[in-house]
Amino acid sequence: MALDEKILQLKREKKAIILAHNYQRPEVQDIADYVGDSIELSRKAMEEKEAEIIVFAAVDFMAESAAILNPEKKVLLPSAGARCPMAQMLTVDEIKRWRVLYPLVPLVLYVNTLASAKAYCDVCCTSANAVEVINALDAETVLFGPDHNLAEYVQEKTGKTIIPIPERGFCPTHLLFQPEEVQALKADYPDAVVMVHPECTAEMRKIADFVGSTSQMCQYAKKSNAEIFIVATEEGLLHRLRRENPSKRFVLAYEGAVCPNMKLNTLERIYLSLRNERHVVKVPEPIASKARKALEKMFEITH
Ligand code: SF4
Repeated sequence: MALDEKILQLKREKKAIILAHNYQRPEVQDIADYVGDSIELSRKAMEEKEAEIIVFAAVDFMAESAAILNPEKKVLLPSAGARCPMAQMLTVDEIKRWRVLYPLVPLVLYVNTLASAKAYCDVCCTSANAVEVINALDAETVLFGPDHNLAEYVQEKTGKTIIPIPERGFCPTHLLFQPEEVQALKADYPDAVVMVHPECTAEMRKIADFVGSTSQMCQYAKKSNAEIFIVATEEGLLHRLRRENPSKRFVLAYEGAVCPNMKLNTLERIYLSLRNERHVVKVPEPIASKARKALEKMFEITH
C-alpha cells in the first residue's frame, strides 16, 4: 500500500485529523483534512468534536497553540525537531527585562512565540489581525514581539508607538526576499501583482501591491482580476494558491525562500508519528491556562 493510503487508513482507525500549515510540502498539503495558517487550523481542530488525535504538520509553536486550545485531544507534531527560529528569539528572561523597563505598557505577542512566552503577554495576534488587535488596545505605546518587521508594519498602520522585543527578531526565510529581485521579475511580468508578507523588510513592503498574511494572500488572489502574481512568502503557499486558482499564474519572488523547519514534516514522519502516537505536544499548567487567556483575548477582539 502506498504511504499516503496507509496514513489515510490509520487516520480513520484512530479518529485522527491531519492539519497542514500553508508552508508544508505539497504531498503533505494534499493528504491533509485542512490547509491554512496556524490559527485557522487551531480553530478547525476545536470544531472537529469527533477527532481524538490531531496531527499538526507545522512547527513547534503552532502545535503548542493547538494543544492549548484543544486540551482534551492528543496533538502530534510529526517532526519533533520542527522548531521556528523566530519563536526561539524571544525568551521569558527577555520579556521580563522589557516588562521592568515598561511596567505600564501592554505586551502583544505574535502567535509565532513559544507557550512559555505567551503566558507573559496581555494578548496574542497573528499577522492577519495584528493591526486590529493593536488598534483595539487603549494604549498609545505597545511592546510587541518577536518579529521587528511586523512591529514596524503595525506601527505604520496604527500610528502607535510599537517597541519591538527583542530589538531585531526576524524570520530567516522572509528576510531572504530582496526588492531588486522583485524588480527584475517585474521586467519579465510587467502586469504581475506583487504580494508581500509583513515579515518581509520595509523595502519589500514598499514595492508591494498587497501586504498580508498567507490567508489574506489566498483571499486576495481569489478576488483579484490579475492573472499573474509575484509572491514573497515561503514557497509552500504557492501550492495552495495554484490549487485554488488554476487559471492564474504564481511566481515565487525568490526561489530559495524555503523554511527548512516546516519541511521537516515528511509523509514518512507523519505516518510514523501517527502509527506510534509519537511526539505528543503537551503544554504544562499553569503556562497553558495563561497562554490560553492571551489567545482567547485575541479571539474576543477579532471575533
Ligand atoms: S517561515 Fe519563518 S516564522 Fe514561519 S516557521 Fe519558518 S522561520 Fe518560523
